[in-house]
Amino acid sequence: MNIHRADFPILNREVYGKPLVYLDNGATTQKPQCVIDAITKEYLNVNANVHRGVHYLSQEATRLYEEARETVRAFINADSIEEIIFTRGTTESINLVAASFGEAFLREGNEVIVTEMEHHSNIVPWQLLRSRKGIVLKVCPITDEGRLNLEALEQLFTPKTRLLACTHVSNVLGTVNPVADIIRMAHAHDVPVLIDGAQSVPHMPLDVHALDADFYAFSGHKVYGPTGIGVLYGKQKWLELMPPYMGGGEMIGKVSFEHTTFNVLPYKFEAGTPDYVAAHGLAAALDFVSCIGMDKIQEYEHELTRYAREQMALIPGMQFYGPSDNAVISFNVAAPPLGKAGRGTSLIHHLDLGTLLDRLGIAVRTGHHCAEPLMHRLGIEGTVRASLALYNTKEEIDALVAGIDRVRKMF
Ligand code: PLP
Repeated sequence: MNIHRADFPILNREVYGKPLVYLDNGATTQKPQCVIDAITKEYLNVNANVHRGVHYLSQEATRLYEEARETVRAFINADSIEEIIFTRGTTESINLVAASFGEAFLREGNEVIVTEMEHHSNIVPWQLLRSRKGIVLKVCPITDEGRLNLEALEQLFTPKTRLLACTHVSNVLGTVNPVADIIRMAHAHDVPVLIDGAQSVPHMPLDVHALDADFYAFSGHKVYGPTGIGVLYGKQKWLELMPPYMGGGEMIGKVSFEHTTFNVLPYKFEAGTPDYVAAHGLAAALDFVSCIGMDKIQEYEHELTRYAREQMALIPGMQFYGPSDNAVISFNVAAPPLGKAGRGTSLIHHLDLGTLLDRLGIAVRTGHHCAEPLMHRLGIEGTVRASLALYNTKEEIDALVAGIDRVRKMF
């Protein structure tokens, strides 16, 4: 049994009268009691707007908010708190960079490289910028195994390349990209790199300093924290040169109708009242996983992923997509052959499979997983995705395998 399950109250509930088997952690993770408590206690005892009041509660809320920033800094090993910007999540972090870095450094004809395995969050912001500024979007292909084609990537750099935006871990294929090598390659061409860490931060230790990433984005809710809070890490040398993303309170120095000056980092990028309670909740989540140890979580999830792939591979008609290096297993299942003619090698529709698994209490994701260009590359409409977290167990994998087999036999 997994000793950490007891920390997650929701895992005790039933759905359709069956124990919940929650395997949709790539979409969002469940919250441990300490995160729920941190949020509740702040609303019960502290709540006041941050950075604004001379009064006691405002100062205490501000202290908790800034302590949360320091917790994030230490967790990812950034050099300073100036480099930690609170956002609503990965999506907002990437949009911030696209808008602000794009405004400062990108001109018509400049090139941004993305990859074929990106989430829409790391494609569409660059397309919006393309409409505004006439930049060129170049796409690094993947291999048939679901890995980035690094030789092809090397060929994409030109004197016009201004940024590489790449995911650390694919939310569909479970591929862990060699981001340290990729960053080294880009820097050799003088190109800064943005890493989408939505699917990496919950599953492995991270050291942005050692990695030498220029920007690194992630979401709190995928790492056992609350919704509505995320992080953009950016090297100070870039953030200093970038204009504000949004205007409003907090991000200003002095305001008159003629002229406005901007606040120092990181506040220049935090217009308006931030979700300070969620920031505190995120810090509680990061403390929680740090206490367990990110290396231990990684080891446990690797073993669970390996076990799941092994057991699922025994199901006739199982088709995997990608290497599932890390906690993500995407698949489809062929329906059993129809009679002796051997027709019927068609796939069970991912939505049917997901819906019937749900009736057995098993929560998986189905569809294109916000990665439609990747689906085009794979030549499919969608997959079923089981994504794991530190609280999942081999018994739950067994339930998934038995569930898939049962559904398969219904077809
Ligand atoms: N990038 C990747 C790889 C993701 O998996 C996700 C969410 O699933 C996102 C970005 C977007 O995250 P959010 O919706 O929390 O902003």
